[in-house]
Amino acid sequence: MSDMELPDDIQTKLKGLHCSLCNVNIPNRPSLDEHLKGRKHKTLSNVRATRKAAEEHSVFVKGFKKGTSQDDLAEYFQKFGSVSDVIMDKDKGVYAIVQFSELDGTQAALAQLDHQMQGLMLRVNPREKKDFKLIPKKKFDPQNLQDVLERLQPRLCQALSVNEQMQIVMEQSELRENEKQARDLVIELLQEVLIEFFPDCKILPFGSSVNTFGIHGCDLDLLLDLENTKVFQARSKSTTEQAGQGTSDDCRSEDSILSDIDLSTASPADVLDLVARILMKCVPGVHKVQVVSSARLPVIKFHHRELNLQGDITINNRLAVRNTRFLQLCSGMEARLGPLVYSIRLWAKQRQLAGNPSGAGPLLNNYALSLLVIFFLQNCDPPVLLTVDQLKDMACEEEECIIEGWNCTFPSQPFAVPPSKNSQDLCSLLPAFFSFYAHFNFPDSVISLREGHVLPITSYLSQNEEKEGEEEAMQEERPTKSQHPSPKLGPLNLLDPFELSHNVAGNLNERARLNFQKECQEAHNYCRSLQYQQRSTKGKPWGLVRLITPHQGPKHKTQEGPGDKGLIITLPFRAALLPDGLRNQLPLAGDSLNLMWFHKVCSSIKGLFLNILKCNPLLPTDPVFGEHSGTSTGTNDEVMEMSSSDLNTSALNSSSEHNTSANNGDDGIGSSSECSPQVKVGVKRRLSSLSSEASVSPQEKKSRVGKGPKSDAPTWAWLQRHTVWAGRRKVRRLLLKGADSKPEGTNVELETQVTEHILEKEPELKEPLAFKVQARIMGRSEGTRAVLKFSPTNDKDGHFQDFYHFLEIFLPKMVETLMEPCV
Ligand code: ATP
Ligand code: MG
Repeated sequence: MSDMELPDDIQTKLKGLHCSLCNVNIPNRPSLDEHLKGRKHKTLSNVRATRKAAEEHSVFVKGFKKGTSQDDLAEYFQKFGSVSDVIMDKDKGVYAIVQFSELDGTQAALAQLDHQMQGLMLRVNPREKKDFKLIPKKKFDPQNLQDVLERLQPRLCQALSVNEQMQIVMEQSELRENEKQARDLVIELLQEVLIEFFPDCKILPFGSSVNTFGIHGCDLDLLLDLENTKVFQARSKSTTEQAGQGTSDDCRSEDSILSDIDLSTASPADVLDLVARILMKCVPGVHKVQVVSSARLPVIKFHHRELNLQGDITINNRLAVRNTRFLQLCSGMEARLGPLVYSIRLWAKQRQLAGNPSGAGPLLNNYALSLLVIFFLQNCDPPVLLTVDQLKDMACEEEECIIEGWNCTFPSQPFAVPPSKNSQDLCSLLPAFFSFYAHFNFPDSVISLREGHVLPITSYLSQNEEKEGEEEAMQEERPTKSQHPSPKLGPLNLLDPFELSHNVAGNLNERARLNFQKECQEAHNYCRSLQYQQRSTKGKPWGLVRLITPHQGPKHKTQEGPGDKGLIITLPFRAALLPDGLRNQLPLAGDSLNLMWFHKVCSSIKGLFLNILKCNPLLPTDPVFGEHSGTSTGTNDEVMEMSSSDLNTSALNSSSEHNTSANNGDDGIGSSSECSPQVKVGVKRRLSSLSSEASVSPQEKKSRVGKGPKSDAPTWAWLQRHTVWAGRRKVRRLLLKGADSKPEGTNVELETQVTEHILEKEPELKEPLAFKVQARIMGRSEGTRAVLKFSPTNDKDGHFQDFYHFLEIFLPKMVETLMEPCV
């Protein structure tokens, strides 16, 4: 066939042919015939012919009266020939396409020049002929969040309750039976091939494919268990040595891959290299095989072409198989866990808080997120889930399991565990989860699912100093503690429930932790709105839907959430910063120590803005001072110069205000139960006033707030004329003569010099930035925190967001530095 003889839709290409109708390449001429007779080409040819005929049989009509119906038009055009269809535009009234059964009808209608209908002149033209183009149907991609949400949203809006919405999220996301079967097939296939090379090896699935929290398209995590193969190899070796031969029958001499490697001494990376070669050469459908030796646990990544499945193979990872069993057990024990985990995973993915696409990254991974949900459920009142220690005690002897020295014992069946007495529904557990973590004191805590409560970070900081005897006593319970290194501490410390020396969230950075808490706060605020609680009768997004779709409209305003203008930075009470002596007195000191801490925080903040960032204090007479917002009646000077007792009063009032308005279970420090009579440290006078204040009714407290000029939280108003937040790192490096060895915010003198350098070298802002900072103390005991609310009062050039983002990281670090050593 020469080019001339090719059918219309077929063109020659550099390599073979191309069918423009079906948009496919055809490798060679012999395949062309097959393609032309194929179903796709035939169907598309037919569709195109039908469309073409329809175009030729119809006329395009405009100019009729608004409200004209299809029947009216059919009736008018009937006189030219039989009308088979009338298609109106969406708005009914702009245009219509009138289709005739026979070509004659079209021609007759077009031949008549003058068309009048209901007193109006109609314009009747030939219908435009469009090229037929195949628009491929968009394939649903389960990994694409947009696709997932588009599919979910209509169903969720129709649901009758948030509980139902959360069930739907789970049902729509979880792996279907056929997907599970496909995964089983891949496992079988791998097992069949690998056993040829590694006798007695086992392939065990773990992770989301089997932990009951899997979603469509999630990866397939596999463990290649070579323990039995090692035994096999050792046995063959000894037999061979005894026989004095070079090889044994079992190992089948040089043919056996085991003759290449000694499993008892080879590194995981060496073993994985070998396995990777086998996968590439011998497993059908497997491609893109890659060994990642740099991961915490070396892993082989592969892709299964036909099933479009991403797989990971690790060795020596029996703890992961066990923690997968633990998640399965939790799901089996508690039906509310699944919908909660699925909904929270979706929310976290949408808010970019979880899921590190390439594995490594600074966000939470799904395993860590599931553990956070379980920890929250352990802390509900009454608990929804038992602690890992409690579960261990419920296991029978045969269920005892120790892996790498860690106690991984728990019952194998959910029915061995009594049901929870907590009857909260999903609709109330979800906001409670957000509230729990929005107010969580991460910097001072190590989360332990084992114990079901937080462990003070100080016990990890001083772990090495623990007395020998104490260690021995603990060893009985946790035989391994002294044999393992302590976990890598970071902004979020979440201990693995079994491998207690591993911080599952050790990869998180400070920004990721801050974002997580900020989003929890926002989600919690939203859950208090009617849109969360009440179903929209008009099918609008409500309940869970708004939590899993992108942010819309203005954010919800609450006392601690960022309102339209306000932005928040939270500084948790850092017991870790206290000198040892004072730290030991903490349990006796009650809240007076926290108030002292808050006072110190406030003076550090003032010093930071004034001396390090060189902001100028604003006076109320200044035009950019801004309104006296809410109860902020104190003048700037008054507030800045506030004495320690004034500060305590303001702190008390602000926390009581918080109590009365928030009613979220997060008590302020003014509650009498928290005031220890045996205070050793602190301001005595304040303590008595704390107790008397606690006896006042919430209404009375509220009405008192704002009465006197000094009754509010400390507020500062500042002016900044330079972009002191921009390019600091470069300046720091310059000042340190090329070495940027000092982390940002850890050296007062250096940071001051950096600001001075910027002030000297950079031009002044056209419009200086004016802003207010309001400080409040919230929470109680170890959960105490200073909450700083920022609001710009003059930000014509829109610099405030940048400044605020810089402060989010810089301010907490700098305050910590300024407070060291804390007295
Ligand atoms: P998904 O694949 O859907 O993101 P997953 O639970 O499978 O969820 P992976 O990151 O694939 O998460 O991890 C697989 C398994 O490996 C987890 O279920 C857990 O058993 C183990 N694992 C993952 N991350 C950690 C970690 N940081 N510490 C300890 N074990 C982990
Ligand atoms: Mg996985």
